[in-house]
Amino acid sequence: MPIIGIDLGTTNSLAAVWKEGRSQLIPNAFGEYLTPSVVSVDADGSILVGKAARERLISHPEQSAASFKRAMGTDQRFVLVDKAFTPEELSALVLRRLKEDAEAFLGQPVTEAVVSVPAYFNDAQRAATKRAGMLAGLTVDRLINEPSAAALACYDPAQGDASFLVYDFGGGTLDVSVVDCFENVVNILAVSGDNALGGNDFDMAIAHMYCQKNQIDFHALNKEKQAILLRQAEQCKRTLSESPVAMMVLELDGLKGSMALTGQQLIEQAQTLFSRMRTPLLRALKDSGISLSELQAVVPVGGSCKMPVVRQYLNHLLGQKLANPGSPDTVVALGAGMYAAMKARENSLREMVLTDICPFTLGVGVHNPADEENLLMSPIIERNSALPTSKIESYYTVSDNQTQLKIQVFQGEALYCKENQKLGELNLPVPPAPAGKEGASVRFTYDINGILEVEATSLSTHQTISTVLVGKGSGLTEAQAKERLQELEKLKIHPREQEENRLLLAKGERLWEEALGEQREQIAQVVQMFAQALASQEQGRIARTRAKVAEMLNRLEEGLSLDELGEEDYEGEEGEME
Ligand code: AMP
Repeated sequence: MPIIGIDLGTTNSLAAVWKEGRSQLIPNAFGEYLTPSVVSVDADGSILVGKAARERLISHPEQSAASFKRAMGTDQRFVLVDKAFTPEELSALVLRRLKEDAEAFLGQPVTEAVVSVPAYFNDAQRAATKRAGMLAGLTVDRLINEPSAAALACYDPAQGDASFLVYDFGGGTLDVSVVDCFENVVNILAVSGDNALGGNDFDMAIAHMYCQKNQIDFHALNKEKQAILLRQAEQCKRTLSESPVAMMVLELDGLKGSMALTGQQLIEQAQTLFSRMRTPLLRALKDSGISLSELQAVVPVGGSCKMPVVRQYLNHLLGQKLANPGSPDTVVALGAGMYAAMKARENSLREMVLTDICPFTLGVGVHNPADEENLLMSPIIERNSALPTSKIESYYTVSDNQTQLKIQVFQGEALYCKENQKLGELNLPVPPAPAGKEGASVRFTYDINGILEVEATSLSTHQTISTVLVGKGSGLTEAQAKERLQELEKLKIHPREQEENRLLLAKGERLWEEALGEQREQIAQVVQMFAQALASQEQGRIARTRAKVAEMLNRLEEGLSLDELGEEDYEGEEGEME
């Protein structure tokens, strides 16, 4: 049975599978590779996933959820109508849709997947991702760091040894990794990143620029208006990838106004975002020990690397030409598909080896003589250690006649433990003795699946205690997991075959919201026409009407979008601006 690779993205998700000697992307019900990571509940309580759900983000924001990847591993709940979902349940719905698409593509059941995660995901986030797989009916034994997957997909052993920097800039996360490739071995030397920085932040920056220009108070807008504004801002950002000036014009009450935007203006306004883009890059390079001159290429990955201002900035910083690995959207999924095949021990990939690293520091809290309440972080496994790894350190008592050593385990880069994430603790009994006489050796073993085993052995009695830690947010018992699985299964999910119909209806509703007056009436008529065809349940009539309605809505949408007008307006001014 094939194992599929999945790129579970903040904005879009994709799946790939090894077929005919290469990793191939799996199309969804629309024949597209990108499935928006959006879930929505419609009027009759059924669940929509993907493109149709994304359309409803605008028209029904209270019933739709997006960007839930950012909340993975937290206790956050997303309330859709009257049901609260965890981020992993929402992710499970996306994964389940990808599993169905893969089954339709391959013509056989799919029960196992390798899922990619940002390198900076902590244990809780990784555990939540695995549980999402389980809830979707997929065994997820292996996770792969997104930049590692990108590196796998980019490396061509025939071209000889290479070191490159993978700059993976998506909708919600940035991952930078330095990768060394030689003789079929893909060796991740260092990773760094920011899991709260992405293209969404540029949308927000553009939306704020628009508000400033048109004297609108962003925070006073209701959720729906904010969503419309952000969608227009994203559209403006995308236009800026195609042309030197993008125009943003809104006619809606409360949002009325216009703005012309150039890349240079965006750079000036979004200075903080650019400096945040720089920090992880410098840290990854420094940690890897590779100098700029040794780097062969910089590989842009993720939708946000399509922005010319981002690419210009990278060229400016690194002084080298960006490599072109095909579409920055698909490279992680292709790598995950390749890794899935390696896991399945695909013959043609037998020679390939992927080594990975621990992307964060793991350590224990130790006594701080200057401030007893404020434990200091004592690293045992330093970030960027190659995996699997096992390291040992000794620790001693700090007071006379201490009867136990409290070993508190933390993850993170801060000097003070309270600023790092606590993963768990162990209490090892020690015989009473003067301070510093008794102690323990503490061994940390961290494997490629992100499981940390902690073992503490008394130096005098040799008593050993150990525990396996997967961090906060992972505490589901098997019974609870089963219960959650059953609950998810009870949800009414729209069959993928009807997705196209749902999408058109949702698109019609969204356009109606965005339009005014006469255009609104036209849209309502078109939607009504399609609703009647659906009510007839005659497949032939539905298909014919669908094609007609799709075309009409596209035309109406073009009428609504003022991008073209914007470009024409700016042809004249371009010279002046330069
Ligand atoms: P990802 O998470 O890799 O799917 O990236 C999604 C992000 O890429 C979103 O913020 C999109 O707005 C952004 N994006 C996708 N295509 C483009 C484009 N052509 N120009 C600018 N940004 C884009």
